[in-house]
Amino acid sequence: MNPDPASPRNLIVVSEWLTHCTTQRKGHERCPKWELINSKLPTRVISVALPDGLPRLYIPEKEEVGRYAALSYCWGGPQPHRTTVANLSEYTRGLPMQQLPATILDAIALTRSLLIPYLWVDSLCIIQDLEEDKIREIATMAQVYKNSWVTFSAARASACNEGILGIQEDTAARLSKSSTIPVTCPNDSLGSAMLYPARFQMAPKWYSREGKVPVNNRAWTYQETLLAPRVVSYYHDAIEFKCLAGLHSNDGLKAEELDEIKPADQRQAKLDSVFFLDSKDGLSAAEFPNLEVLWSRVVKEYSFGRLSYPDDKLPAVSAIASEFQRLSGDTYLAGLWRRSLVRELQWKKSSWRSGTIESTTAPRRAYRIPTWSWASIDGRISNETSQHLISDRVEVLDCRVNPVSEQAPFGHVDGGYVAIRGPVKCVDLKDAWDNFGLGQEHQRPYESRKIGLFSADFRWDISADAEDFRRHWGIPPDRGPLWLLGLSMRPRDSYETCGLILLETSDNRYERAGLFYIGSEYYGGKHSDVGRFADHWGDDYEVRAVTIC
Ligand SMILES: [Zn+2]
Repeated sequence: MNPDPASPRNLIVVSEWLTHCTTQRKGHERCPKWELINSKLPTRVISVALPDGLPRLYIPEKEEVGRYAALSYCWGGPQPHRTTVANLSEYTRGLPMQQLPATILDAIALTRSLLIPYLWVDSLCIIQDLEEDKIREIATMAQVYKNSWVTFSAARASACNEGILGIQEDTAARLSKSSTIPVTCPNDSLGSAMLYPARFQMAPKWYSREGKVPVNNRAWTYQETLLAPRVVSYYHDAIEFKCLAGLHSNDGLKAEELDEIKPADQRQAKLDSVFFLDSKDGLSAAEFPNLEVLWSRVVKEYSFGRLSYPDDKLPAVSAIASEFQRLSGDTYLAGLWRRSLVRELQWKKSSWRSGTIESTTAPRRAYRIPTWSWASIDGRISNETSQHLISDRVEVLDCRVNPVSEQAPFGHVDGGYVAIRGPVKCVDLKDAWDNFGLGQEHQRPYESRKIGLFSADFRWDISADAEDFRRHWGIPPDRGPLWLLGLSMRPRDSYETCGLILLETSDNRYERAGLFYIGSEYYGGKHSDVGRFADHWGDDYEVRAVTIC
């Protein structure tokens, strides 16, 4: 073990991992074999291997193939040195090395050391002040990462000026506690073995790497490392290699050991090998349910990631969406899929008012995402309603979203609607609040006798001096009553126990305000008041069509 990621020893280790994986050696049989013929270069790459030594932007011929590395990293603010319309031709002659941030310089150095001719970095390979170029290039990101020979993850750097090389201090600290003992080798000669503390031995069991692994907290980097077939992550305490065969690290820590200390919200390193299926005809229908489960995991894990700009919500997951579409042939609707739409509409905001947009001064959304999409709110999403059956009284009549660019069908949308026929019931806001069994007494404003559990979206800003029920449910002063739309039920039920809470905007058009659950099982034995709650949302509903925008 060596604390210097750029040491010859560590470079050899990384190079061997890559060779074993790309040639499908023992243990890597499931890994996608790397073949030059299939490795089309991105629109622009950085050529690092020129004789005169100065890396420059290179624009390949249309179908030119090549071996390249990709970089996944946290920007940590606007990029000072990015490719623009004005400097594009200058950058094709040579990059301004003295001005590039440390992470990009380190990635160039690594690419060179591993004898890889090209490197792809978003801030330099996409023209950052040309909207058409950004839309077009972001739409190809699935291919950029999937075709890469390797993706370097700058896991330890929260901003581009922090770099990925340089001594790992945690590793150095562990080595300082090491001791060397003599051992007898199988051939009777005398050798030595070095003992040092394991990576997490010095930390408590619940030790969270989150703060030390900034790249895990970013929304954009999620799809980059998910779609890349081989990721080398440079952490503060180790170098890890992930591929479909599993995880290797330069200190020998096994994937199982890492799982044990994994914080609950750490993302899955690799979802599945489905992304690497060469599926020209799509998957068989029997495999769709697996894909649905995978997508709900993607939404949940992705929604943890932080974004600097609220408008990036759909683009930053668009590469994964495009891969799902390739496999399923389904219709993508602003973060949801047509085939499983009713189930996917039943997401909820998973924690009280927690947000993932980093800056309070970030510009407001330029595009309007329909309120029924989880992408329309800022925050973590949970979507575990798999134990529910879709009600047979529910039918999706029509659904549409308006993509902003035809070239980016998985990117920005501006408006859309879903028309659903189902059981609908109107509840007066004040009446619902007054029927709170535990709400006012015990500060549990999300529990009601009238509507069961109310998981609010908090999509509107409500002033602090608004009435209690408006503040606790995030409902603006001029809005109400609540409309409940039943969507699904538990297997033994004969009435809907989960659905959307809506507010009317105009005649028979609605916006989503939250999700409701009704039925004693949701109160989960947490208290003895099960009998005080409704177990049924009554017979006073009508089955009719509503349009949610
Ligand atoms: Zn592999």
